[in-house]
This record gives sequence, structure tokens and C-alpha cells, in this order.
Amino acid sequence: MTFDYDLFVIGAGSGGVRAARVAAATGARVALAEESRYGGTCVIRGCVPKKLMVYASEFPAEMQNAQAYGWTVHAGGFDWPAFRGTLNAELDRLEGVYRTMLKNSGVVTHDARARLADAHTVELSTGERVTAKHILIAAGGAPLRPELPGAEHALVSDDIFGLETLPRSILVVGGGYIACEFACILKGLGVAVTQYYRGAQILRGFDEEARGLVSEEMIEGGIDLKLGTNILKIAEESGGFVVKSTHGDEKKFEQVFFATGRRPNTGGLGLEDVGVHLGRNGQVEVNEYSQTAVPSIYAIGDVTDRVNLTPVAIREAMAFVETVFKGNPKPVDHDLIPTAIFTQPEIGTVGLSEEAAREIEPVEIYCTSFRPMKEAFAGRTARVLMKLVVSRETRKVLGCHIVAPGAGELIQMVGIAVKMGATKEDFDRVCAVHPTMSEELVTMKTPVRTA
Ligand code: NDP
Repeated sequence: MTFDYDLFVIGAGSGGVRAARVAAATGARVALAEESRYGGTCVIRGCVPKKLMVYASEFPAEMQNAQAYGWTVHAGGFDWPAFRGTLNAELDRLEGVYRTMLKNSGVVTHDARARLADAHTVELSTGERVTAKHILIAAGGAPLRPELPGAEHALVSDDIFGLETLPRSILVVGGGYIACEFACILKGLGVAVTQYYRGAQILRGFDEEARGLVSEEMIEGGIDLKLGTNILKIAEESGGFVVKSTHGDEKKFEQVFFATGRRPNTGGLGLEDVGVHLGRNGQVEVNEYSQTAVPSIYAIGDVTDRVNLTPVAIREAMAFVETVFKGNPKPVDHDLIPTAIFTQPEIGTVGLSEEAAREIEPVEIYCTSFRPMKEAFAGRTARVLMKLVVSRETRKVLGCHIVAPGAGELIQMVGIAVKMGATKEDFDRVCAVHPTMSEELVTMKTPVRTA
């Protein structure tokens, strides 16, 4: 049987674009469809604009530091429309880069919505039908809006970057990555932030000591964090929205923002009709080679709801190309993925939390929390945390958790050591870089507890 293409990719996010380009570089004939903007969640409405907003939001605290260090500086006001204009121009530039990369790789692109007609055929919203030997679903995910009265009034993360004006007050609902990052960003930009989280502590699943410190620092930084609290309904009222909480109280906010999780974009793709299995959350079910129940159809990235991070989607893309186009079957390695949450302060983490490790084997915990030099000099009370979870039997560092400014940068390096299987004694053999915060990672001599 002959096909129009060797590969048809649905979705031009980080995973889809990488797979299309690298497959094309093997000599494969590749086409791709994207119904929205090229670059996907990470570039257009996720990691990239979020990180630029993190930078924007950090200036007030830096200016307070600067004053303590003898500078005469005043924060003045934040010009959201000016910042948003520069931000949008940058996103346009990046989208252009993605389009150019695909073009230069020889990938044929369709600005259209795609739907599967059978195991080898894609129907485009332009009316075209295209056949391919392999089809890769890389359609990503989208924010999930809880079902409650007035939910339609609330923003989701996609809306934040395009706001005409920044609200004076906002209620952030949720306690995950997006809720905590945006609570900190918006607070830094001068918005009065209240955050409702239904559980006992934000950032469920992360190391308890680390999430506890971030929560304390967020409260210290002025976020009105209400734990054990959820939202029942939203009613529009002049100049804002009145929110009824699970405690029965009613409060008015200029905006409400749901950061209550994401759902894989599998609706309307015709996946189940052609035999692809979907899981309970709507995710595409795949094996370790990212192959679905239909042998010619693969899926990578958030649409599979494995580990929803851009670098993971890119690795899944590379493993897919290796397997399908280079004749070298390569399972995706989802073990020991370092990650950062860009709260203020940031969390950088790799490996097991203390709680998860203790369930598996006896461990030693090395941990220190202190006021870093830069902030202490400026009279600030902010604390940082450096923590190692160590196997008592093998001495391997099973987990590292850092809460500190720049923790994302630090954990990338620690991730290398942990992935290599470094022991506590390997860490100890490394000479400290002084004076830094992270030198504590190689100077902690005595466990704070064993378990
Ligand atoms: P998360 O799954 O991390 O968090 C969702 C939050 O919403 C949880 O606190 C959850 O509570 C809460 N929640 C879920 N449903 C409801 C509801 N009906 N009512 C009230 N609260 C609810 O999702 P995010 O949207 O924050 O992020 C999605 C994913 O995107 C992350 O898991 C991560 O993989 C990725 N991401 C990564 C970033 C990074 O690398 N820095 C940044 C942003 C996103 P509970 O804990 O009780 O379930």
C-alpha cells in the first residue's frame, strides 16, 4: 500500500514539532496539522509566557533588596499593556521560529483541524484527506473548568496572558503547579491574591517539608492562602464576582481564576472510532514505545497524560522517531525527571519525596533550612531549604528537594548526579562552592532523622 506521507503529526506543540522535524531529517515524508498557533501550550500559553511573567513579577522584591543594599530605587507602577505588548511580540517571534524550522525541515504544514478517518487516513477541516503510514497524536491538553454555578465567569490559564487590564483582586482556585505559580506572579505584579485550595497543603505529591516552606513563604509574601477551602458558586456583581466558599462565606473578587488541572485534547479526533483506547481522563493509552492500540498510530506529550512536562514530550518525540524511523526500538525513560515549580521561592525537585521513599526502604534525611545571605543582609526573613533523601542500604541519593530562588537552575545540575546514581558519599566528596546556598548540598554531615 502506498501513502501520501510516511508520518502525519497532529499538533504543533513541543512534542509534535520535534517529532516531525527529526523524522523528516531521516528522509521520511512528513506532514503536520495544527488548528491553532504553532508552538503549542509551552510556547504560546504556558512555560514561556509564564516564565516571562515570573521575571516581571520579581522586580518589586528585587527593588526592596536593592534599597537595603544602598540603592535609591522606587518600584513605581507596573505597565501591564506595555509588558503584554512586548510579550506578544516575543510569542509571535517564537511562533515564526517554529514555522520556519518545520519549513526548513521539509515538513508540509496544514493550518487546519485534523480528524482520524481510519488507521492511516486523516481528514482535515479544509476538506482534504491525507494518508500516512504512521500517525502521531500530539494534540496536548487544555485547562479543566470545574462544573459549578457561574463557572463560565472564571478565567483559566489560557486567558491570563491576554487580559486587557490586570485586576485589582483575584481568587486563584487550586493548589497545583499553575495555581501556585500564578498566585505568586500576580501578587508580584501588584494584584491582591486570595488562593483557595481544597486539601490540607498545596502541591500535593511533592516533598512535605518543601511544600510546607513554599506555602509559608507564599503567605509571608502576602498571598491570602486558604487551605481546606473550595469554591461553591460564582455570581456576577457590578465590578466583579461574588464567590461562595465551602465555609459558607461570600467574598467579592474582580476576577476568579481556575487552575484546577488539565485534560488531554482527545475530543473530536475520532480516536475511539478507529480503535485507539482512551483512559478515564480521556488520555490516549500507549505502551512504552508511545504506540496506541492501533499499530500505525502513536501518541506523545500531554495527550497521553503520563508526565505532563515539555522536556518529557520532547524526549517521547525523540524515542518515537528512534523506534519508528531509525529501527532502534527505544522505550521512553520516565524515571528521575527533575522539575521546577516557579513559585517565589521556587521548588526544584528530583527523585522521591521523603514520604514516598520511606514507603519503599529505610532512609536517612539530610536537611537544612536557613536565611540566605542576600536576603538576610536585606533584613528579609525568607528561608530556603536544601534536602537529600538517602538510601540507608545503597547510600544512593533517592531524592533532592530545594526551595530557594533559582532552585530550577540548581536542580538541573543535581538531576545529573542523581540520574547517575550518586551516593551521599559522592556528594560529600565534592568541594563546596563558597559562599552559595547550594554548598549545603555537599556539606550536610549528620542526618536530621532516619526512617
Ligand atoms: P495540577 O494537577 O498540578 O493541579 C490541579 C489542582 O487543582 C490541584 O491542586 C487539585 O487539587 C485542584 N483541583 C482539581 N479539581 C478541582 C476541583 N474540582 N475543585 C477545586 N480544586 C480542584 O494541575 P495544573 O493545572 O496546575 O497543572 C497541570 C500540569 O501542567 C502539571 O501537573 C504539570 O505537569 C504541568 N505544569 C508544569 C509546570 C512546570 O513545570 N513548572 C508549570 C505548569 C504546569 P488536588 O490536589 O486535591 O487534586
